[in-house]
Amino acid sequence: MLILLGAPGAGKGTQARALSRRFGIPSISTGEMLREAVENQTPLGRAAQRLMESGALVPDDLVCQFVRERADRPDSKAGFILDGFPRTLDQARFLDEWLLREGHGKPLALNLRVEPEKLVARLASRRLCPRCGAIYNLLSAPPRVAGRCDIDGTPLVERADDKEEAIRKRLVEYEAQTRPLIDYYREKGQLRELDGDREAPALTMAILQLLGMP
Ligand code: AMP
Repeated sequence: MLILLGAPGAGKGTQARALSRRFGIPSISTGEMLREAVENQTPLGRAAQRLMESGALVPDDLVCQFVRERADRPDSKAGFILDGFPRTLDQARFLDEWLLREGHGKPLALNLRVEPEKLVARLASRRLCPRCGAIYNLLSAPPRVAGRCDIDGTPLVERADDKEEAIRKRLVEYEAQTRPLIDYYREKGQLRELDGDREAPALTMAILQLLGMP
């Protein structure tokens, strides 16, 4: 069980997808699940939309319930990777209790560290495939054909919250609510830190090495 920690734009989503493929276990990305709920205008999606677009966090109880339902599915029995969850101390406590109750082992939290100045540039140049979720960066990891997903050719989009004002709000939320999780997991001996300021494949290699699986 792996938790990917790090500020918005640190590379959690990209790494979660790569590790999920490598280990054959699902990546549970709360941001991706919430964006899908917004797209489908489910009751949760409608409740979350405005908060997400402004860069605020969605309330803990909604997110926790959503994650539990996803992690209860049979494909998660062999383990899963959490991308973007937990994001608050209450979510982390909820996760600990749930993992204990379900008899899962203790998760390892990987903190991907990237300088704050670099995050804004990364987020502003990020593009997403709305169909398969693949993540691109116009500067460091552009698609082969401009504006189109390498995997399925779908036109790429910019996330609604990758706009300057929402980016600033997300970074403030990260500092206030999510950064404390680094100490939370460090104190429990469940934290590993990595320099996230490198190309995605090199970071994946470093993670695999850290896990003893080169
Ligand atoms: P992400 O794709 O992880 O950057 O998440 C996009 C947005 O979804 C965040 O800015 C929040 O509004 C919402 N979100 C994702 N995960 C969580 C979470 N664990 N708790 C609260 N809100 C979340």
